[in-house]
Amino acid sequence: MKNTVRILGVDFVNSTLFEFLNTLSGHLEREEKTFVVTANPEIVMKVREDANYRAVVEKANYVTADGIGVVKAAGLLGRPLPERVTGFETFMGLLQIANEKGYSIYLLGAQDEVLQKTVTEIMTQFPNVKIAGAHHGFFDWNDDHIPNEIQRTKPDLIFTALGVPRQELWIGQNMDKFEKGVFMGIGGSFDVLAGAVQRAPEFWQKMNLEWAYRLMKQPSRWKRQLSLPHFALKVIQQKVTGKHE
Ligand code: UDP
Repeated sequence: MKNTVRILGVDFVNSTLFEFLNTLSGHLEREEKTFVVTANPEIVMKVREDANYRAVVEKANYVTADGIGVVKAAGLLGRPLPERVTGFETFMGLLQIANEKGYSIYLLGAQDEVLQKTVTEIMTQFPNVKIAGAHHGFFDWNDDHIPNEIQRTKPDLIFTALGVPRQELWIGQNMDKFEKGVFMGIGGSFDVLAGAVQRAPEFWQKMNLEWAYRLMKQPSRWKRQLSLPHFALKVIQQKVTGKHE
């Protein structure tokens, strides 16, 4: 049985990034289809509010704590999670594994220019990784071109960088069409790898203030961060009532 911690109805995998990458490495070796969601408080709140999104996240094999808010909540509820397991770091770890084992990847998402830069960057930093295919993130969902290409090329790893909730919805809608693959939505990670968006400097990350840095750099994000106080309130309610929903 998987060791998980339930926060507001979402079961988070209880492992460090290193342990989690080892787990995924096993799935890759055995060619087991696996769906990973890296969830921050915004995603937890979206799961609670949107039944369609909830149904998709429930299909995931693993939900990781991508956000200091989730780690803090786990501590407050007396079932601590060891650390954040972010989309970007899991993505980089998986690329490293793919580089060691010669796995193939499919990249779906971001603006075409960002995507091309991401492909070049991966080819430079991880030369043994095979690029099965790549497609920008502004496509017609009714067009079968992308799933057909994935069926044909059978990549080991499929990364969707379409933002929340599209990246998980796309996986939920399409993964049944494929025989294998580790599927994971990774938000703006292509933009970071391509150098189009900077991650917060280490100091901000260490102080758990990455969210504040992002808000400063992209003020238009303020609306989505409104879910944070709501999340905190619900966690406190869970603690008080002891109900795990
Ligand atoms: N994106 C995309 N298709 C869309 C909307 C967004 O490929 O229809 C890409 C966008 O270019 C960016 C990534 O999704 O590379 C993440 O976007 P955002 O910052 O909104 O995601 P979040 O922070 O919610 O993960």
